Amino acid sequence: MKTTRFCTFAVSVAMTITTIIALGACTKSTVEPTSPDQADPGTPANPPAANPTPAQDVQPTAAKPVDLGAKATELARRFIIVDGHIDQPMRFAMSKRLTGAVDYGPVINGGGEGDFDYPRAVAGGLDAPFMSLYVPAKYQEAGGAKNVADELIDMVEALVTSAPDKFAIARSVADVRKNFSSGKVSLPLGIENGAAIEGDPANLKHFYDRGVRYITLTHSEDNEICDSSYATTRKWKGLSPIGKQVVAEMNRLGIMIDVSHISDDSFYQIMELTKVPVIASHSSARHFLPDFERNMSDDMLKKLAKNGGVIMINFGSIFINEKSRAQGQARWAAMREFRDKHNVQYGDAKYAAFVEEYNKTHEFTFADISEVADHIDHVVKLVGVDHVGFGSDFDGVGDTLPTGLKDVSMYPNLIRILLERGYSEADIEKICSGNVLRVWQAAEDYAAKNASQPATSVQ
Ligand SMILES: [Zn+2]
Repeated sequence: MKTTRFCTFAVSVAMTITTIIALGACTKSTVEPTSPDQADPGTPANPPAANPTPAQDVQPTAAKPVDLGAKATELARRFIIVDGHIDQPMRFAMSKRLTGAVDYGPVINGGGEGDFDYPRAVAGGLDAPFMSLYVPAKYQEAGGAKNVADELIDMVEALVTSAPDKFAIARSVADVRKNFSSGKVSLPLGIENGAAIEGDPANLKHFYDRGVRYITLTHSEDNEICDSSYATTRKWKGLSPIGKQVVAEMNRLGIMIDVSHISDDSFYQIMELTKVPVIASHSSARHFLPDFERNMSDDMLKKLAKNGGVIMINFGSIFINEKSRAQGQARWAAMREFRDKHNVQYGDAKYAAFVEEYNKTHEFTFADISEVADHIDHVVKLVGVDHVGFGSDFDGVGDTLPTGLKDVSMYPNLIRILLERGYSEADIEKICSGNVLRVWQAAEDYAAKNASQPATSVQ
């Protein structure tokens, strides 16, 4: 497990992003780490392999026990693992703001404070983490959103240029497979917040040409495209007129639509319009957190499955466990109040001291990795195994990650639990990457057929 040395930076980085209501939890876990052995005691383990029928003059021998830990590690290496959402580029941006330059060394060689780097990706079998290009909602008002996304793409490209033997940009499913074969970690690109197009669907082509293959339509606020699950304003009651054009143009170009962060109305309207399956790059099941609109309801999951799409499960404890969410929400409110009252921001020493003190005196309950598997199970039981994947939100949820699932080296722990719960290798491969690559391929195929259609423009 990581120690609290991560906290100050994690808070400063993470509080602004994905889990806008509840980040920065840095107290020690109130839950002792548990091993995957203890996952869901009510679930039967894989049955041992059947013995061959013994000849009459040979005594039967006991089946050799399967080492599920070793098996999980082997599968993590053998299968392509795609993660729908890792916020590493935002860490680059933060380090540039604080120090004036980006040091790519820790991501290439390890030893940094984030959740993702090359050595741990290799250890965990991670092959294609979508690099989330996070555009904060404040740029919707202030301007400059497109430039923010472009600078983040520049940073990911600079990382690849610095270590071409380890990383490669992936612009297609074929690229992911090719990079896997040559032992490189693919870095596909996804923009988090469609504000990056600055209200002009024509900018979608710009980002497609730069390699962006999904866009999360909004983030913490309503934007020009649609309403946010976190906003109370609900400006458009779903999609805006521009948003409807954005859906059509993303389909035409082959950019996947990411429905994480958007309001329920926005989601249902997209389901009526989109010609290809969609993804939720980092959302979990609302079933376990009934009031948390940021996760997907059972009805939405059924619609998503009918559409052929995939939900990539967010690992952050506040997405997984109701108690964690409540504590995280209180924490967020206290920190926001302090910032407003003292006019401080992330990175300020006074604010960091407050955060440290708050975390010492307030409990935070980490979810357990087995609960992440519960969310996967729930989706599978509801709509089948073809519609779920991993969308960790690593580097986006601060120190709120579940025990047993703290960074990119730990996918085998989750695969082990799936094995314990009786998932077949074929099913596990679908969850690791097969499902999202199927959706990505469908987006590519539709675009290939419709590339000659005129671009969707603002009327
Ligand atoms: Zn997010």
